[in-house]
Order: sequence, then structure tokens, then C-alpha cells
Amino acid sequence: MEITGKKISVIGAVRSGIAVAKLAKSRGAIPFVSDSAPKEKLQEAISIFADVGIDFETGTHSEKVYDCDLMITSPGVPTNSEVLINARSKNITVISEIEFASWFCNGTIIAITGTNGKTTTTALMNHTINECGKKCYTAGNIGKAFSEVVLRVKEDEYVALEVSSFQLDFITQFKPRFSMILNITPDHMDRYNNNFEEYIDSKLKITQNLNEDDFFIYNADDENIKPHLKNKKFRKLAFSLTSELPAGTYYREGKMFFSWFGKTKEICSATDLFIRGEHNIANALAVLSVAKLLNLPEAKIRHAFSSFKGVEHRIEFVLELNGVEYYNDSKATNVDSVWYALRSFEKPLFLILGGKDKGNDYGQIKELVKSHVAKIYAIGSSAQKVYDYFNEIVATEKKDSLEDCVSAAHSEAGKGSVVLLSPACASFDMFDNYEHRGKVFKQAVKNLIK
Ligand code: ADP
Repeated sequence: MEITGKKISVIGAVRSGIAVAKLAKSRGAIPFVSDSAPKEKLQEAISIFADVGIDFETGTHSEKVYDCDLMITSPGVPTNSEVLINARSKNITVISEIEFASWFCNGTIIAITGTNGKTTTTALMNHTINECGKKCYTAGNIGKAFSEVVLRVKEDEYVALEVSSFQLDFITQFKPRFSMILNITPDHMDRYNNNFEEYIDSKLKITQNLNEDDFFIYNADDENIKPHLKNKKFRKLAFSLTSELPAGTYYREGKMFFSWFGKTKEICSATDLFIRGEHNIANALAVLSVAKLLNLPEAKIRHAFSSFKGVEHRIEFVLELNGVEYYNDSKATNVDSVWYALRSFEKPLFLILGGKDKGNDYGQIKELVKSHVAKIYAIGSSAQKVYDYFNEIVATEKKDSLEDCVSAAHSEAGKGSVVLLSPACASFDMFDNYEHRGKVFKQAVKNLIK
């Protein structure tokens, strides 16, 4: 779409809204940004818009938002919000920020989605490509908005793009050269009307515009993905922790293999990977397929895997005190990621669980809790639910704060055990976000040695 002189309404004036409005303006369009939050909450955006001369409104979505050639929505705006419903009824094309940014991308897009592991995999992808001597940027949920980065990406460069289902809900032409779905398990059900199929469809939109030249990498162990790939023309590579595959990567007896066009080659060992847990082997397998397709040197891939130290708040080692290790997994905001966290440890766990519940079913981790967990500290607005579910299975105690959990664990956890914050819940009942929760936990742990 030629956008010079076109009126573009941007809904949402936070990170991606600001970036996309600036990008639109720099490409000759006339953006108008509208956010229903009061102006007191949007000070940063307001000063940027004033600086660059972008028209905006706060506190409402007025009729002016519909006077446009195109509407760009931010990931935080619910699909069924009035402004989007009205726009559709007026036949206005509504797209997401990554869709718009992708129109201006000269480099190669590697789009990464899935319920869990997106940030870790995006960061590992980026690290691997850069370590192998090529230039890669990260964008999307992981840090900077795609719109902020896209004009910097040159033709022979790459962007590892972390993509959420909310961004995919509003794509039209988005066509990454490489794309991947790491896994699909129930999450964000509040946003998808409790309809898991709707959420799966939304993730699968990443493949919507792919053709014979594009590569799609998916998790063969995940039964929710494969049934949707029949009769698709793009090139498919799978990854698996359990089965040998003819096309893609797999794990067998501690080694990672790559198979393509009838040839199979061992590339590295799981011990080359610094980050722990089976789920991270799966993430690395996904990265490995792209690395091999890009012909990156294997010795450098191995080096990249061992020098990648992981991402903050994802099973992050904090410190060891009196023979007890403390780990921060604040980003584990659903039951599935806790399942993987529990399996990543062999030592007895003192687990901090709870927060803002998104409709959790703890059945999935019941057996693992029995075998791996010595004690649960239940916190947040779901403390009672956690307590009721687990107290007959394992010692469980409700606590008022993370600090209380840490100090109780400090006195109760014996040498050789692990204290793990892996809450299975969102953080908004007690904290600004999961980063804030993780930092409070780490500070409480560090205070133990003061
Ligand atoms: P996302 O960006 O999709 O939320 P992260 O990399 O931030 O994913 O990890 C979120 C949580 O999920 C962390 O607790 C992490 O340890 C866990 N995790 C990472 N990769 C996987 C995976 N492949 N499967 C399940 N859980 C994972």
C-alpha cells in the first residue's frame, strides 16, 4: 500500500503505538494517535508526539479516529473493543504494528511465536546469528517495537522478531522468510473467549502468507500444530525432543541433530547449551534449524549456544547461600512453563506459587509437585486456590509477601535444595509486572547476605 499522504489512525499510545506513528510519519503518512487512557498516564507519548509533530488525543476515541485510510492497533487493545468493532463496521482496514513495519523491512525476518519460550528463543536466535558474524537485530515483544528497528535492517541483515498472537490477529501481508511456532498450550484464554481453537488459529496466522520459498519451523511434539499443516506449500521443518525427523532438528541421547534432504548430521551436544531444562533444548533445536538453513558455521553455533546465558526472569540463577540455590522464574506466568521449570531441577524444590490467576488448572503439575517439591509457599490473590489444591499433596503455606517467602525458605530449605519463584500466574495483583516481581524476589534473596 502506498502510504504517502494517507491518513493513518493509531490506536494505543504506548511503546508500539509511539514507534509505529513515528514510522508512518517518517514515510510521509499523516498519523493520528488515539488512546483512551487519561493524559496523566501518557506523558511520555505526549512529549514525543509534540516533538515530532504528531496529532493525538487522549481519554477517548473520538469520531476522528474513523476518518482514516488505515487503522493500526496496538497489541494491548482487545480484539472486541468498541473502537475496533466500529472500524470494521465502517470497512476500515485494521492492521497490527508488525504488519505495518514489515512493509518497510529490507532484511530477512525470522518470526518467532508460541505460548512459551518466545523471548528466550528470539534472544538465542539473535545471539547465534551475531556470534556467527552476521548482523541480527531483535524486535517485537522482546524489547524495541519492530517499527523502531525496521529501517535500520539492511538487505543482508536479519531481524529476530518475537511475535504475540495479538499482533498476528491483525496481519494481512506479513510474510517472514523464516517463521516458527514453538508450542501452543492454553494461555490468554480470557482474551480468546475461553476458546482454545481460536487461540490456535491466531498463532497459525504466522503461516498465512508463506509460499514455497519460505521456511516454517514447528514443534513436532506438540499435537496442536501438525494437524493444521496439511496441504500447505511452504517448506516445513520440525523439531522434536522425542522422535528422529527427516526434515528439521531433533534430540537423541544428549545430542542435537539436523536432517535435511535425506542427510542427518550431529551438530552439538545438549551440554553445549548453557541454559538449563528440556524446554531450552527444544528452543535451541528451533534456532538450530534456522542456523543450519543459513549455513552458519557449526563451531560458531556451538560457541553461541554455550555463551548464551539466558534472559532475566527465566529460570535465572540468583545466588547460592549455605548450599541452597535461588532461582527467579518470574516470567512463568502459566502452568505449562512451571511444568518445565520443575523438570529442570533434580534437587528438592521450595516453590513460590501464586499471583493473579488466569484460570489455572494445576492438574498438569500435580505429579511433578509430588516428586520434586518439598514445600510450596502460596502468595497473591490466588494464594487460597493454591493452598486448597496443594495442601494435601505437599506442605503448603500461605504467605503475604515475597519477602516473607524468601525468609521462610531461608530458614526451612536445607543444604542441597533449590528455592524457586515460578508462580504460574500473572503478577498484577501485587506488582507492576513480572519484571518488578522478579526484581523484588532477587532483592529479597540478596538481602539475605547483607
Ligand atoms: P515467552 O516470551 O513466550 O513468554 P519466555 O522465553 O519469556 O517465553 O519464557 C517464559 C517462561 O516459559 C519461562 O518461565 C521459561 O522458563 C518458560 N519456557 C521457556 N521456553 C519454554 C518452552 N519451550 N516451553 C515451555 N516453557 C518454556
